Amino acid sequence: MKVIIMTKTYLHDEYQEVIAQSLEYDKTIELSQKTAERIRKIPAPVRGQILRTFGDLLRRHRNTSAVILTQSMGKHIRESQGEVQECIDMVDYAVGLSRMYGGQTLQSERPNHRLQETWEPLGVVGIITAFNFPMAVWAWNFCLAFVTGNSTIWKPSPHAEGCAKELKMLWDKSIEVWSGQTNTDSLWLRDAVQVLYGDAAVSQAMARDTRIQLISFTGSTKAGKRIARVVGARLGKVLLELGGNNSSIIDTTANLDLAIRACVFAAVGTSGQRCTTLRRLFVQHKIYNDVVRRLKEAFDSLSCGEPMDESVLVGPLLNEASWKQAEAAIYTAQLQGAKLEAGGVLDTAMPWTSTHQYQGPVMRPALMTCVQPIPQMQTEVFAPILYVVPYGPFDEAIHYANQTEYGLSSSIFSNDQKSIEEFLRNSYNGLVNVNTSTSGAEIGLAFGGVKSTGWGTESGSDSWKQYCRRVSTCINYGSDLPLAQGINFGE
Ligand code: NAD
Repeated sequence: MKVIIMTKTYLHDEYQEVIAQSLEYDKTIELSQKTAERIRKIPAPVRGQILRTFGDLLRRHRNTSAVILTQSMGKHIRESQGEVQECIDMVDYAVGLSRMYGGQTLQSERPNHRLQETWEPLGVVGIITAFNFPMAVWAWNFCLAFVTGNSTIWKPSPHAEGCAKELKMLWDKSIEVWSGQTNTDSLWLRDAVQVLYGDAAVSQAMARDTRIQLISFTGSTKAGKRIARVVGARLGKVLLELGGNNSSIIDTTANLDLAIRACVFAAVGTSGQRCTTLRRLFVQHKIYNDVVRRLKEAFDSLSCGEPMDESVLVGPLLNEASWKQAEAAIYTAQLQGAKLEAGGVLDTAMPWTSTHQYQGPVMRPALMTCVQPIPQMQTEVFAPILYVVPYGPFDEAIHYANQTEYGLSSSIFSNDQKSIEEFLRNSYNGLVNVNTSTSGAEIGLAFGGVKSTGWGTESGSDSWKQYCRRVSTCINYGSDLPLAQGINFGE
């Protein structure tokens, strides 16, 4: 297969060489296939040690990598540092996993037989990532894919290619260190991470390619559905981490100081550009006015502006298009009866012009109140807009919260055990939290959603299984041949 990779994003001299390489699409895939064959032969604990070398280097580059992240897509520097830390955490997690993951032995109904399950690598894993977590999502996928014995091909977002360049450089360097330390010819391991730069055409080529056993796609639901159709048509395996429209409930027993802090963080962190961002907040009507007052105070006092400034809490949006979408959403919500209580305008502290290539406009987070849910609340707009709605009976809160096509993250703020238990059972989401925010997940848990958020999980728990094929084995160590279900065949 020959693929001409269309690209409109390479403007800088430093990327010229990369373009030339990425046009060699077939070569990249073939090399990845060969690399996968070699990686699977390395014992898993040794793969863990290789990853550890990478983790050591990443630790030393924590701050410089974070700056590159902020410069590439405008994330606030403290959050960028947290994102690089998440990559380091993922490496640690995978190092531990390298000595721990395994299958199980099961009981056979036949004498002198044993049943077992083992997990073998898939081969080549394609990782397509979004702009908003340009390093962490790659680490979630890559660390698990590599430690279980796969090679990977990464297609980063065109808005965050600098991040891929940085991590690929660190990976290559860590392999050089590993080769030196072990005095082995291991430089071929650099090809365990290959990067294809470009836009949707590259993802589509990867989706069509039967040589890539798993496509792990993170991005919008619209693009994810396209990817799913293409991969599904060839019966390939797909992991989809798509959009979210997350909600929290605050009841009358909640610790309001904690709830307000958590909700503000979830609504405005990463300028509302997280898949787990809080958009819909349902508050028991007896405390509604108090909660809105406190939220308004918090929103009014948020420091917004330069993402490298440590004192700032809210940095810029990705680009002008993001602001235009936010502006339109606020306008539509007002037409539908919502009231703008705070923010929703461009921040004047950091005047923005379209000549800024990487850092978009700074928007003051919008707080909107509605007497009941409005249609606009159903749309995932990637900006800090929080809708607050009162509810009466607890059932109504759960009904409102589940009223969305997405199913990623939810939370409840309550000290009433019965309500908490009901919420945990009935909230239709992959991530269901108690007395903490919808965003900011730890790597130890499996991360993923349901409904239009996609399927499959990444990061912790048993997510590593997504990068493996299960091998079911029956071993007969006797000298008879009893058949399952007691079938008599020519005895
Ligand atoms: P996006 O869909 O525009 O792009 C994501 C990736 O897909 C990029 O690499 C892009 O080049 C590629 N792409 C874009 N259009 C495509 C198409 N038609 N066919 C194939 N590939 C295509 O998303 P984005 O704006 O970069 O990121 C924001 C979205 O990602 C939000 O919806 C957010 O909720 C979601 N997201 C989800 C998770 C999660 O874990 N659930 C994590 C991060 C982001």
